[in-house]
Amino acid sequence: MLSIRDLTKTYANGVRAIAGVSLQIPTGLFGLLGPNGAGKSSLMRTIATLQEPDSGSIDFNGLNVLVEKDALRRQLGYLPQDFGVYPKVSAEDLLTHFAVLKGLTQRAQRREVVDALLHKVNLWDARKRKLGTYSGGMRQRFGIAQALIGDPKLVIVDEPTAGLDPEERNRFLNLLSEIGEKVVVILSTHIVEDVTDLCAHMAIINRGQVLLTGEPHTTIQALAGQVWRKQLDKSELAEHQSRYQILSTRLVGGRPLIHVFSESAPGDGFVAVEPDLEDVYFQRLRQHARAA
Ligand code: ADP
Repeated sequence: MLSIRDLTKTYANGVRAIAGVSLQIPTGLFGLLGPNGAGKSSLMRTIATLQEPDSGSIDFNGLNVLVEKDALRRQLGYLPQDFGVYPKVSAEDLLTHFAVLKGLTQRAQRREVVDALLHKVNLWDARKRKLGTYSGGMRQRFGIAQALIGDPKLVIVDEPTAGLDPEERNRFLNLLSEIGEKVVVILSTHIVEDVTDLCAHMAIINRGQVLLTGEPHTTIQALAGQVWRKQLDKSELAEHQSRYQILSTRLVGGRPLIHVFSESAPGDGFVAVEPDLEDVYFQRLRQHARAA
């Protein structure tokens, strides 16, 4: 269990990126969902001991993370948002290099670890290829392989699915969820679908604050009976925007289909819809924006 309490961080330029975050993160895949600039990377870099918070505490299974940094690092696998690879080196060679850096100095043992990881992330057949020839999804799977060297108990992956096509994204998320069967895996994303199906728990964050935390399906249930849909003419959109709390607008057959939040039936041609996590997400973000 990773336990974060009252964490804050203000950068030198005055941006308050983490504004009092408390979170309990159990074993399993945990989705940290929020728009760009919400503070996800700042939070993850802090947990990964790459930067210091101003105040607050982080405990990982009894380890005081902010004090015992080296001990945490030995249990940590981290895939940063801007993970770069050497394009002219093969996956096998670079992974071997990372394994040496992580302290696997015995050749036979290292070989075993590297081979097992290449199989695990499904890159065995492509292991001799230069990383520069890899697709985005393959590069991210390579990124996960390097993060898994040394059997980490805490795995942090920052926006790993940005830029992946749907099939690559699915494959990558399935891999993360498999890893999450035994360890804490924190996945940050601004893509709601990343969280819906695979994350056992999640938090929605915005402007450095936690807006909601729980199991995705429970948070969806809590919104039942309060989301309504209607298809409009484009000319009616502005008026509906001023009258209703619109959660989302999509063009379907060239006409806007809106979802609105309302505790009681709005009438006016609206029909009830089963909410989904996107409705939950936008409801919380709108509510937070109004409160601010
Ligand atoms: P996210 O990962 O959710 O996109 P970030 O943690 O990257 O959010 O950023 C949160 C806020 O902090 C943003 O306003 C960003 O511009 C700012 N920020 C991030 N890193 C730094 C930094 N090193 N120095 C100053 N401001 C930063």
